[in-house]
Amino acid sequence: MQQIEQNTSYPLTLLDTISEAVFVIDTTWRFTYVNTKAEELVGKPREALLGNTIWDLFPETVDTLLSTEMHCAVQQNTSTHVEAYYPPLQKWFESRIYPSADGLIIFSQDITGRKQAEEALQRSEELLRTLADTAPSIIWIADPDGTITFHNKQWIEYTGVSPQENATNWPELVLHPDDLERCMQAWQSTLPHGSNYEIEVRNKRYDGVYRWFITRAKPLRDASGRITAWFGSTTDIHERKLLEEELGKYAAIVSSSYDAIVSKTLDGTITSWNQAAGRMFGYTAEEAIGQPITLIIPPELHQEEDIIGKLRQGIGIQHYETIRMRKDGTRVDVSLSISPIKDSAGTIIGTAKIIRDITERRELERRKDEFISMASHELKTPITSLKGFTHLLLRKFERQGLQEEMPLLNKMDAQMNRLVKLINELLDASKIQAGRLDYEEEPVDIDALVQETVEMLQPTCPRHTLSVRGATHAVIAGDKDRLGQVLTNLITNAVKYSPRATNVDITLSASKKTVTISVRDYGVGIPKAHQKNIFDRFYRVYDAHDKLFPGLGMGLYIACEIVKRHGGDITVESDEGKGSTFMVSLPLK
Ligand code: ADP
Repeated sequence: MQQIEQNTSYPLTLLDTISEAVFVIDTTWRFTYVNTKAEELVGKPREALLGNTIWDLFPETVDTLLSTEMHCAVQQNTSTHVEAYYPPLQKWFESRIYPSADGLIIFSQDITGRKQAEEALQRSEELLRTLADTAPSIIWIADPDGTITFHNKQWIEYTGVSPQENATNWPELVLHPDDLERCMQAWQSTLPHGSNYEIEVRNKRYDGVYRWFITRAKPLRDASGRITAWFGSTTDIHERKLLEEELGKYAAIVSSSYDAIVSKTLDGTITSWNQAAGRMFGYTAEEAIGQPITLIIPPELHQEEDIIGKLRQGIGIQHYETIRMRKDGTRVDVSLSISPIKDSAGTIIGTAKIIRDITERRELERRKDEFISMASHELKTPITSLKGFTHLLLRKFERQGLQEEMPLLNKMDAQMNRLVKLINELLDASKIQAGRLDYEEEPVDIDALVQETVEMLQPTCPRHTLSVRGATHAVIAGDKDRLGQVLTNLITNAVKYSPRATNVDITLSASKKTVTISVRDYGVGIPKAHQKNIFDRFYRVYDAHDKLFPGLGMGLYIACEIVKRHGGDITVESDEGKGSTFMVSLPLK
């Protein structure tokens, strides 16, 4: 040892103080000097090392990178540097190898800790990348200056842009031209502040289609608060955006609608209220929303809401005419259209109502009815005189034996009867509209009334046989003339709408509580789709210009009103092409 120390010119004590291991090897690969750190590093005392070759002491280094580098250093007389793992010691070493006249000098240090940290970092980077690539969203990382340094796989797949092109040119390649400047400006102005970034832009898909995305980013700061990176995510919101646009359009329609549009939950709480509703009812949206819908329903009609609710059964109601109440308590005539609101599962969660103010229309109708009523009155007087004069002439011609002229006068009389009937119907209909159809209440023998009516009508329809079957044996309280009018209408209709038939059957029956008169014909019948409407005013199955079946569509409307006023009911059963049966049932009092 002493000898070695003397033979060398190294300041050995100094070498012992440095933090690196120092090995001196001669040309025969034997250790001639090691410092204390070297002993520690290889875990052997100096005595065990000195005088022995490196290959004997550490056979695992033969044919490794270290041995190659050492040979290289000797042969080429150049210094070199190597990082290598030495399995027996389970350590990583970093060695700098310097050739010398006597062999080699090697400075080594244990870098196992650093290597492990590097490996861990690499592993966690791989982990992060895998995580980023499997995330459902597009993820990216940017430098503090805003340059994007990483985009996950989803972005590359979505845009179809190669990673190289993407790195240098993605904004121009992917952002919608109309969004490019806005997006870049927002990004650049966010960077210096380090605030959270959020923007909605359109990004081009690989097939050229633009879709809406929301891009958000957050800065990552070090301990001193300096931004070290930006983490960003870009999420597809295309469907939501389209829905928003669609909803925006609907919202514009709703708010500009002339009709009130109001929605409510199933329990009747108002959930939306447009401007027209505000104008119509006098409540602002703030005042109405959250209130029960009974806010605008007159107290006497509160029940109606339940009825509509039950009727509805998820189908909706069109043009239901009723009355609603303003904030000041005044009433407004309205027409309601109601549709159910369903959630995404199809469950009804509320209703939407379109409420139209029909005050003006009602007023017009009232004026029209008034005019019809006035005109019919005015027509009635001259027609009555004409009829009177015709009868006078008939009698005169009869007395003078002028038989030839008689049929003409009879035809004139029949036409005038038609006119009288029409005028009477018009008058009745306008009276019903105005709620002024008057009724007498007297005992009415139903069987006798039917008999009288049939006897009166039979001569007017010689091609048909009107036969009466059964009896009610009932006397009810009612208006005999009006009930006669109903029967007349049903029988004349039966005759009119069965031009090829020969029979009309009238059947009478009674139960404990009601009497029923049914009028059956074997004529054209009524198509199913029309059956529910034929009792409406002016409703006709056939065109108004139909020459075969002239009429105004008022007879059944009047008949129905009269029957209803008697507390009864009128219904129809009909098979198209086979005939119809009208049934009137009246309560026995
Ligand atoms: P109209 O003056 O048109 O006969 P109504 O109110 O009496 O008016 O009848 C309304 C409509 O109902 C008629 O236009 C006709 O289409 C249909 N209708 C009424 N009665 C019959 C019937 N017995 N057979 C077939 N259709 C009928």
